[in-house]
Amino acid sequence: MPAQGKHRRPKSHRLGRAAAVVTVGGAALALPLIGAGGAQAATAQTYTVKAGDTLSKIAKAENVEGGWKKLYADNKSVIGSDAGLIKPGEKLTLGSAAKARTTATQASTSTAAYVKPVDAPEGTPYHQNGSMWSSGYHTGTDFVVPTGTPIKAVAAGTVVSAGDGGAYGNQVVIQHADGHYSQYAHLSQLGVSAGQAVSAGTQIGLSGATGNVTGPHLHFEIRTTPDYGSDVDPVAYLRAHGVSI
Ligand SMILES: [Zn+2]
Repeated sequence: MPAQGKHRRPKSHRLGRAAAVVTVGGAALALPLIGAGGAQAATAQTYTVKAGDTLSKIAKAENVEGGWKKLYADNKSVIGSDAGLIKPGEKLTLGSAAKARTTATQASTSTAAYVKPVDAPEGTPYHQNGSMWSSGYHTGTDFVVPTGTPIKAVAAGTVVSAGDGGAYGNQVVIQHADGHYSQYAHLSQLGVSAGQAVSAGTQIGLSGATGNVTGPHLHFEIRTTPDYGSDVDPVAYLRAHGVSI
């Protein structure tokens, strides 16, 4: 590991109690999305056939799961035996479409779940011993990237702090639904502010070399509390959530 991109003896510090009281569970974050899908679904329960409509056109426009065949099957009593003959004014049930939308929304909020904080290979690994760290070992993992590289939230959550983190320079700390916190340090630019909800992959700032560093890199931590010293292996954590790293 070259000397650049490492820390010099960062001082132990806390992330601020006041910020930590901002609590948001995954459910609270997912609700607005599901709510939006539900609202859409509620208004799409029935569809009134217009001149020029075909079942496939409607199925596509209304995002009916199973396509026109399903739409036809669900509305055979209205349409009759010929799927090619639908008449303006006929009311079609889009019940399954509504369901499909809600399901898709829920699926995307639960599977999109975790991403890498930056597109770069891992540099200085977690727990590497060294006198340059106040705890005697590296409390996060480093990704050596040039200043200005987009940094992404690894999962949905709420920003509990975004600002000067002392030795960490400009940093962002995000609380996630599972109670863990992710920290992104030495940023050149902050793209979020405290209290803001983010999704997995939301750009939260740009990498940099602020704070106590010898070169630009992203210092990334996962913690079980907002406080320094409650770190866990960030790479293992991401891998446990399906991230290839
Ligand atoms: Zn580091």
